[in-house]
Amino acid sequence: MAGNDRVGSPDRSTVPDDRITMPERTLTGVGVSPGRGAGPVVVAPPRVPAPASTPPGDTDAGQIPVAAARVRAELEAAARATTGEARAVLEATAMMATDPSLVATAQALVGDDVGPARAVWEAATRIIDDLRALGGPMAEHAWEVIDVRGRVVAVLTGRSAPGVPDPGHPYVLVATDLTPVDVAMLDPERTKAIVTTRGGHVSHTAILARALGIPAVVGVHGAAWLTEGTVVVVDGGTGTVVVDASAEEVTRTASSAGPRRSFAGEGRTADGHHVPLLADIGRPEDALIAAEAGAEGIGLMRTEFCFLGRRQAPSHAEQVDAYRQVFACFPARTVVIRTLDAGGDSSLPFVTSTEEPNPALGVRGLRAFLDHPQLLDDQLAAIAAAADGSGADVWVMAPMVTTAADAEEFVRRCTAHGLGTAGVTIEVPAAALRAGQLLSRAAFGSVGTNDLTQYTMAADRQNPELAHLCTPWQPAVLELVAAACRGGAQQGRPVGVCGEAAADPALALVLVGLGANSLSMTPRALADVAAVLSLVTRQECEHLAAVALAAEGAEQARGAVRALLPMLAGLGL
Ligand code: PEP
Ligand code: MG
Repeated sequence: MAGNDRVGSPDRSTVPDDRITMPERTLTGVGVSPGRGAGPVVVAPPRVPAPASTPPGDTDAGQIPVAAARVRAELEAAARATTGEARAVLEATAMMATDPSLVATAQALVGDDVGPARAVWEAATRIIDDLRALGGPMAEHAWEVIDVRGRVVAVLTGRSAPGVPDPGHPYVLVATDLTPVDVAMLDPERTKAIVTTRGGHVSHTAILARALGIPAVVGVHGAAWLTEGTVVVVDGGTGTVVVDASAEEVTRTASSAGPRRSFAGEGRTADGHHVPLLADIGRPEDALIAAEAGAEGIGLMRTEFCFLGRRQAPSHAEQVDAYRQVFACFPARTVVIRTLDAGGDSSLPFVTSTEEPNPALGVRGLRAFLDHPQLLDDQLAAIAAAADGSGADVWVMAPMVTTAADAEEFVRRCTAHGLGTAGVTIEVPAAALRAGQLLSRAAFGSVGTNDLTQYTMAADRQNPELAHLCTPWQPAVLELVAAACRGGAQQGRPVGVCGEAAADPALALVLVGLGANSLSMTPRALADVAAVLSLVTRQECEHLAAVALAAEGAEQARGAVRALLPMLAGLGL
């Protein structure tokens, strides 16, 4: 590993908006999707505004389902044109367009003072407020409703559909924030980078940008200052945006971005230490994409994707069919199925209450199942039936495991269904600290860095104001990852990482150094992580981990680690 020949990120707190008046200034934010991209800025158009309450004499509520159906059809057509996570987002949002309660509530609101467009706005806003009040991962679904609200209102008011217009040439997209649909519809070849004022590490913008391979920096205070056509160079690894970049800088960036790498084989350090590189997936069809991307297995299947938007749990046959599709893509490989992670989500009314005052700290994950053991048994029975004869090495894990008693109960139920490899996600600080005890019961651990970060830092993972706190580079979070790995080592049980942290190539090395046995990530990140991993030894990973742990904050940890990895720039990361 070379010496300290790269400089860490400048201090973002020293760059207030009103002082950014000089060209060639470097803006800083939170790098959430690695890679470098350059080009002229295209500023995302403003969102569709709230329509006026007073209707222009139009009180035909029947227009609402027609407009909703049109939006749904448009989104479904866009979904068919894409794959993977972008497709999943478009399909979920398409369904939201014709959500019966949204349409019915809006129709009921139409009256003398409220036209159809205003009624849709108000009905959707109520749902958005409810989802946001729930907090936690499910609050992200508010974005689907925000998107749909704008689209249906646009149809009803004769405006063109909201979204980012394609300028017909490569560009860098600058926005206050983007809906998941905005990102899902971007052309990754043409969109060289994304810069937003808001957003956090686990926001949908970040997750999708990583899945699409578009470099992204969020939480950039000066982004609002960037004007159309300004040429910028964006580094999603260091979280920097160089304003008024020279032609030479742009060319250098284009050549360092290079062609996309591919990954087929195994994750190994330079000295041959095997680190299985696995994929995180949601929907069953994503398994094929993961297999094509070279994943060594599935490290996390978020099964709630099979349940979302349902009033009743999916049938046994439906579930078996979904899991079988995944197992079929990975014969003789490990596939980790995570049981339903529901929590305070109104779209899973058969599992949890929507009345909890603080859902992220409420009856979530395994806790909800322990209140509804039949639901857990039904899911385990479906997983076992799908696993039978599939040829895949099926592992099962529970979300939000907190105590050794939780682990014991989950393992007991899995064993009763013949599922012999039952593990725990480690995403609650208590579980990380007591991992040895939990792993004396469970066969493996999988660190969910997204939730572990929000619970360690007491910072809502959906709140863009807290993005600087809610990053897995926080040394406090890394200490807990280390504790979890130590607990696993004590018991001779593997502990992997399945949160978004594993998709950041520099952080992935730190995680290996902390003792993670495997890394699971969006399929798109596999090749980049594999490439970087192959250039460092295990001992060097341990050194990087020590450097990160010794840092005082997230930015310092990231800066110090990246300074020791000059090859990242060479790889365009
Ligand atoms: C996590 O919390 O890191 C995780 C992998 O689970 P999710 O993002 O689904 O909560
Ligand atoms: Mg989680």
